[in-house]
Amino acid sequence: MGKYNGPLCRLCRAEGTKLFLKGKRCLTEKCSLDRRNYPPGHRGARVSFKKSNYKSQLREKQKVKRFYGVGEKQFRIFFAKASKQKGITGENLLRMLELRLDNALYRMNFAYSRTHARQMIKHGHITVNEKKVSIPSYLLKKDDVISFKEKAMKNENIKGMLEEVKGLVDVPGWLLVDIEKLTGKVNVLPVRDDISLEIEEHLIVELYSK
Ligand code: SF4
Repeated sequence: MGKYNGPLCRLCRAEGTKLFLKGKRCLTEKCSLDRRNYPPGHRGARVSFKKSNYKSQLREKQKVKRFYGVGEKQFRIFFAKASKQKGITGENLLRMLELRLDNALYRMNFAYSRTHARQMIKHGHITVNEKKVSIPSYLLKKDDVISFKEKAMKNENIKGMLEEVKGLVDVPGWLLVDIEKLTGKVNVLPVRDDISLEIEEHLIVELYSK
């Protein structure tokens, strides 16, 4: 599947759930899903979100991919890794997605959205353990410390953004943020309860087990 370049709110309406793709707007009354909670398209208001089992499995997969901004190829790679790990495959998968650097930046209130976090990482503004990392899918480990490059901390746009996003989302318990130093640490590995998305991950496992 190619990269989606259409309206982001349309994705939430297609999934029937908030995917938080537009930063601040998602938390205001301007959220399209709050205003029009039915699938997009001219027949949208008349169709329900009821689906067959196969469609439900597909939809759960799409929902997770869109929430984290991951393409099909990478999602499959993550799934293959998750299924080789000990424990419950669905939870392993979500943990890995949660540990992506772009997700962690967003979760720490250091970016407007995961998309914005990806841009900053690609532009070389972010460090992990004091080394520049420019790969948004970089998987964090316990005790990793995330920060901004010194130059980025002096950047007026970034300073303004950080003011705006302060307290935008609740920082999950697995991350420790030092707002003064602009650092975040992976204190423990995330568990299922840390993942706010309403998702039935077992449906994704069923889909790939066919
Ligand atoms: Fe989704 Fe609402 Fe954010 Fe649009 S504003 S991306 S519908 S959560």
